[in-house]
Amino acid sequence: MKKLFCVCLTLIVFTITCITTYAQGLMITYDGTTKEYKGNIYKLYVNDELVISDMPPIIIDGRSLVPVRAIFEQLGAEVEWDSKNKKVSVSYESDEVVLTINDKNALVNGKKVEMEVPAKIINDRTMVPLRFVGEQLNMEVGWNAEKGEISISNKEYLQYAKINDIKYIKEKDRQSIAINVDKFQDYKILRLPSPDRIVVDFTNTKLSVKQDNIKVNEEFLKSIRCSQFENNTARVILDLEGQPQYRVTETKGQLLVNLEKKTTNADADIIGVNNPLDGFSRPVDNQLDFKHIAQSTYEAVVIDVKDYKGYETFKLPDPYRIVIDIPEAIASNEMKTVNIDSTLIKSVRYAAKEPKGARLVIDTKGDLEYRLVENDGILVAYVAKSIDLISFTPSRGISDRDEALERGSLSVSYKAQEDHEIVALFTSDYSDYSIEKLLSENKIVVNLPNALGPSKEQSIDVKSSHIESIKYSAVNRSSSKVVIQLKAQCQYVVVEGEKALVINVIPSVDEDISQTDEGENSAGKATPTPVKTATPEPSKTVVPTVTVTPNPTVVPTSTGINSDKEPIKIDHAFIDGVDSITIWAEDVDDFNVWRLTGPDRIVIDIPNFDAGREQKISVDSSNISSIRSAQFEETVGRVVVDTIGQPQFESRKTDKYITLIVRQPTYKNIQYSNSGSRVYFTLKGAKLTEGGQSITRFYTDKYEFDGRRYSITFPSELADLGVGTININDSKVIDVKITKDDESNQTTITFTTKEPFNYEIITRASENDTTITLYKEASRKDRLVVIDPGHGGSEPGATYGGVYEKDLNLDIAKRLNALLKSHNIKTYMTREDDVYVGLYERAYIANNMNATLFVSIHNNAYYSQYSGTETLYYPSNSPGFNSKRFAQIVQEELVKALGTKNRGIVERPNLVVLKATKMPAVLAEVGFMTNEAELAKLKTEEFRQKAAQALCDAILRALDEVE
Ligand SMILES: [Zn+2]
Repeated sequence: MKKLFCVCLTLIVFTITCITTYAQGLMITYDGTTKEYKGNIYKLYVNDELVISDMPPIIIDGRSLVPVRAIFEQLGAEVEWDSKNKKVSVSYESDEVVLTINDKNALVNGKKVEMEVPAKIINDRTMVPLRFVGEQLNMEVGWNAEKGEISISNKEYLQYAKINDIKYIKEKDRQSIAINVDKFQDYKILRLPSPDRIVVDFTNTKLSVKQDNIKVNEEFLKSIRCSQFENNTARVILDLEGQPQYRVTETKGQLLVNLEKKTTNADADIIGVNNPLDGFSRPVDNQLDFKHIAQSTYEAVVIDVKDYKGYETFKLPDPYRIVIDIPEAIASNEMKTVNIDSTLIKSVRYAAKEPKGARLVIDTKGDLEYRLVENDGILVAYVAKSIDLISFTPSRGISDRDEALERGSLSVSYKAQEDHEIVALFTSDYSDYSIEKLLSENKIVVNLPNALGPSKEQSIDVKSSHIESIKYSAVNRSSSKVVIQLKAQCQYVVVEGEKALVINVIPSVDEDISQTDEGENSAGKATPTPVKTATPEPSKTVVPTVTVTPNPTVVPTSTGINSDKEPIKIDHAFIDGVDSITIWAEDVDDFNVWRLTGPDRIVIDIPNFDAGREQKISVDSSNISSIRSAQFEETVGRVVVDTIGQPQFESRKTDKYITLIVRQPTYKNIQYSNSGSRVYFTLKGAKLTEGGQSITRFYTDKYEFDGRRYSITFPSELADLGVGTININDSKVIDVKITKDDESNQTTITFTTKEPFNYEIITRASENDTTITLYKEASRKDRLVVIDPGHGGSEPGATYGGVYEKDLNLDIAKRLNALLKSHNIKTYMTREDDVYVGLYERAYIANNMNATLFVSIHNNAYYSQYSGTETLYYPSNSPGFNSKRFAQIVQEELVKALGTKNRGIVERPNLVVLKATKMPAVLAEVGFMTNEAELAKLKTEEFRQKAAQALCDAILRALDEVE
């Protein structure tokens, strides 16, 4: 008896864990009969993601039928059901399949095609043959009977590279992480401090296998984490213990990251590590350059030249100018003039001086006092109305620009060794550097956010067998970029030296090449490691012995960064409170100007225009802070004007230039926000409505012009907005006009938009501001999920251990938003940044938008011994899918994924966001911030990502039930 019991138990366990999550004895009803389903239950993967729906794939006559809506909508197809004719149509891109229930004839793009098994209604679900429909829509359908898996992927998904596997390998004194990818795309490696970690981002790549994080806890490495960072970027994070040396090797289908002890000279056996800078010295480049710094009472011209010995200086009148001659400096014969137009300085000019050296002239606005100071190896000219106004200690508390000056400037050296080539980036501060390998352009790009490169691009023509050139320059005032243009397929090893980052470029050893006799690669021919075995070579071998398939797309292209170009010419003047920006652009046909917010800026795009090298011009004005220009797309040049607040702008064009005029607005107390999917205006100190649950409106409104013009009118004393037109011209809003009728004492705001919108106007009681939100109603077949990150702005929610609830909520919400979007679910976030949003506002917008589901994300606080997850809902007796059922699903998924204490679902009849919302709505309290252990978890990205994933899973399940 006992024995039999054991057997039974084993069987049940086997059934539950190995076959599926569906209970035994699935009863299915179709064609008028009900019977127990005896077929196999397969796992179904959609774009490599396991789909759990209440109906598994049902096998009838050897064909699998799947719930049409759950599966094909997830694949981005549109599904329509015609209940009268019992027809279901599935369309994807330009293809359409129409099936009639129990009819073997399908219509594929209007043509009749016969199937083996027709669509059926099973358990009230419309089930269609997966392979037939999938293949007609050009999707890939896979069937693995051994594993019990069926898969379907759409074309878009198949285009991505996939990370199939991540392995950890430990050897004697080296650890390796092997990331298996099916094809290489561009990738970027960053080393980040506090906590120490290495981040590898693969673009256009999906994390194909849902892999658990690997806990390592060895000398250098704590753990390996991976996630789909963005829709098209897969991210692998190595949590480090200390700062080991790392090197990166590409092999066929694998990126190998080795971690090893930072090598000292004694045990150096890896190339480049033993005295990486042996035989190198920092190049002396005595090119003259300068930087301008403005302070409130004085200005400084920092003369960037390494050797300024023997300099002479004097002042001249008519016009007033300061002259500095430097005998050892190098400058071009042609005079370079830089317009400064600051309070004290008109411009700075410099050129070569006969017979030797260079001359720099500072054109001043009037007769000013000045002094030259040698400051830590840099020559600085200070200019002021009176010498007493100058503070000569630029390192203390002046500005970030001075700080930048203290940082290491960048210079680059190259040296060829017998079996590899070395590029040394000399700078005392290479912290936070990142390295990108761009496969299509075959270059290595090193970004140095804290190193000061030359403002004029420097180039080293290498023309070796592996490196074509090395180019480097400042990207802006504090960061630099080095581009190593490769010729052949190469790998690299990064060595972090003292005051230099050393990139060793090593030829990749191709399997074929290694069999032919090519002298210079001989070191690499040692023992090619077989493909796909992740064992790294013993550290004695000099060159990584790996096999690499030549990438057919490695042809260097001329597109990419505009490394050998000058930036375009932009002039700026600030006169009488008005900024005039002149962009020299000859013979351009057209341009487009619009406003962006968060941060506030004005963008000018010029089609068929070459913007040259990136530049950033700092500006001293009350309307704008800087002007930037860069190539935006291959054929579109972009100029960005960073504004202070939202000033007024106008633009015009001649055949030589485009002018943008920016001035203080005549409107006030109105702020536009278009930084996320939420588009809204804030009227400061304006009271246009009263009440929450029932609203009294103090305005009248009307629509004109096909819903694209909307105006609201109210007594002028309710809001002090001034008058004027806010030009916007983004994808949604053209402009907003504020007018006043003095006779009737009425103010009118008129919105003109590019498409029809609806408007929700609500005064936030606690702030006394009014928000006007522009939204679109979701259509009936859209499934819109409103995500509500709790609290925000002046209302932080629970605060514990220096952590704000509002920040945790927003972070989880953003992750959830990204996940839902990757499932093609329409979403709307009630806030996308740290702003206050009223509770009724949140609920009413969800109602107005006709949302299918509403999820509010919060975290709990109580006594420290309390912990766990709970989901709140508003009690209702409505039949079918309701808030209570939704809360059950959310609670189940959260507890399952997070492993937190299950505090269950809780009825909350008085929470506004739950009570005032008309659709199924829940409020998830993810964890307790007051519990030390739970707060520690909430502080990790990993935990918040898990919470977001659980909410996403819950929403997918709920959407399936809600239909
Ligand atoms: Zn809260």
